[in-house]
This record gives sequence, C-alpha cells and structure tokens, in this order.
Amino acid sequence: MTTVLFLGLGHMGGPMAANLVAAGHRVLGFDVVPAALEAARTAGVEVVADTVAAAAEADVVLTMLPNGALVHEVYRGPADGSAPGLLAAARPGTVFLDCSTIDVAQAREAAAMAEQAGMRAADAPVSGGVVGAEAGTLAFMVGASDEVFAEVLPLLEVMGRRIVHCGGPGLGQAAKVCNNMVLGITQIAVAEAFVLGERLGLEHQALYDVMSEASGQCWALTTNCPVPGPVPGSPANRGFQPGFAGALMLKDLTLALQALDSQGVEGGLGRAAQAIYAEYAAGEGAGRDFSGIIETIRAAEKEH
Ligand code: NAD
Repeated sequence: MTTVLFLGLGHMGGPMAANLVAAGHRVLGFDVVPAALEAARTAGVEVVADTVAAAAEADVVLTMLPNGALVHEVYRGPADGSAPGLLAAARPGTVFLDCSTIDVAQAREAAAMAEQAGMRAADAPVSGGVVGAEAGTLAFMVGASDEVFAEVLPLLEVMGRRIVHCGGPGLGQAAKVCNNMVLGITQIAVAEAFVLGERLGLEHQALYDVMSEASGQCWALTTNCPVPGPVPGSPANRGFQPGFAGALMLKDLTLALQALDSQGVEGGLGRAAQAIYAEYAAGEGAGRDFSGIIETIRAAEKEH
C-alpha cells in the first residue's frame, strides 16, 4: 500500500483518486472546491485541510491541476511566502508525480526544484479524458528516471492501461504536446475534407468508407468523426457535447506553440491550428467538442 497525497480532485483527479482507493492505496486528498472534496470523501479519499502536514506522511505527492503555475505554487508555496511549499514539508526522497498537462519547460523546472529539495520527480500527463479516468484506462506519458518510473508504475497501472516511459523529466509532457498538436491538426484536416466533399457532392458515408480504409485514416476520423452517422458514438451525433472541449484543445495547442517557439521550430500547421482553435474557443466552442470546428469551416465562405 502506498500513501498518496492527491491534489486536484476535479473531472480527472476525482475518478483517478477513487481508483487508487479502490485498489487499496491510502489516498489523502485536497482541492480548493468543497464539492470536489465531498465527492472524493464519498469515494473513500481521506480529505485533508492541512496539505503541509499531509505531505510529511506521503510516499507520493500527486498533482492533477489546471496549469503549471499552480503546480509550481504547490511545490514551493505561494509567492507571498504566506505558506511553505510541499517540497519543504515532504520526507526526503518523496516522489512528486505531476499528471497535469503543463508546459515542457515548467515541467523540467518543477523536476529540478524537486531534486534540489532532495525529492524525486516524474511528469506523467494523460490522455483518455474523463471516461478513461473513470474506467482506469488512461494512457500515461511518463518523463522520469528509470528508478522513479519503476516506482510509480504500479500506481499508474491502477489508473491507466497504456503507460509509456518517454525518457527523463519533461519528456512525458513533450510527448503529450506533440501528440495533441497532431490531433488538433488532423481534426481540422478531416473537417476540411468533409466540407470539401459536401460541396463536391460526396455523401458523408461514402467519403468515410474510403478514408477510414485509406491513407486519410486517423483517430479524428474513425473515433471523433465530425459528421453524424458514420461513427455513432462521436460527438457530432449529440450536438458536439464534449468529449474533449474546445477550451482544452486550445490549452494544449498553446502549450505546443510555446514549445515550437522555445525550440525554434517553424511548425506552420501547429501554429495555424492554434489560431483556428483560439477563434473557436473564444465563442461557444470553448464548451463544445473540438470536432465542432467543422461548423466554423462550413460557415466560412470563400470567394470563388
Ligand atoms: P478540473 O478543473 O476539473 O480539475 C482541476 C482541479 O484542481 C479543480 O477541482 C480545482 O479546484 C483544483 N485546484 C485548483 N487549484 C488547486 C490547488 N492549489 N490545490 C488543490 N486543488 C486545486 O480539470 P481536469 O479536467 O480534471 O484537468 C486536470 C488536468 O488534466 C489539466 O491539466 C488538464 O489539461 C489535464 N487533462 C484533462 C483532460 C480532460 O479531458 N478533462 C484530458 C487530459 C488531460
């Protein structure tokens, strides 16, 4: 049994913590939202008010937070120095396991801070969404030393099905950002193909039957098909209820943009996808599935 201090019991963290409890681990949990704490308590999480005291009891401090600035704040305490960070409170050698999706540079900085404080660190962002978090079938992309990877693997296996060791600290986030850049680009590409097909007189099903078995085949088509019909479970069949919301796709593409800039990669398609989703998420698209981008593409008339 491992004692896990779990911070961030939201859409993803709530069910992930519940799965750890169900597998027999001791989970101490904290969130700033009372409703999240209540749901976690019901699932068997020991809710704590004092995370500094709880950190001293933990073998692993697991964060599932909205962004990297919050992860840094949890690690080193608020900037005004009003409270100590958890790195100062944990026992030496405690593993700080961050499963949030954050900037690669911030992940590397978090790992360096942890190591400087005598702790050990891993980044392990996920894909698979809330459905995967609930079912314990997430995919984890892990950046950690071999030793730390081996230590966190049993916990990740409780919460996920596919766990890939991508390399040292930060490389889990690097893999996530690369994958989601492809996802954003391909969802736009598939939408453009359906809109063009419509104008050319192609039935959706006919185009799907061709592309799904040809070189246009991809997840954005065969799972997240942006037109209703060919894939009955895709968000297009339920008015683009997410799924994976436009706001989250914009977050991930903005992280990709930061990585492109910091590494001096031109990445024209990644940049274009970020701009397209920025516009989508500025309106109703923020709360709709990102495959709803097809409606924006369909509505945009070009002079001809
Ligand atoms: P969420 O907003 O539902 O959950 C985040 C939780 O963190 C909230 O409950 C919030 O109250 C809590 N929180 C904020 N500050 C805190 C603090 N200082 N201490 C403790 N708790 C704090 O978000 P989510 O959808 O669960 O996503 C979490 C992370 O997982 C994000 O980084 C997101 O990008 C990533 N992610 C989400 C999905 C998805 O489909 N939702 C998929 C893959 C990855």
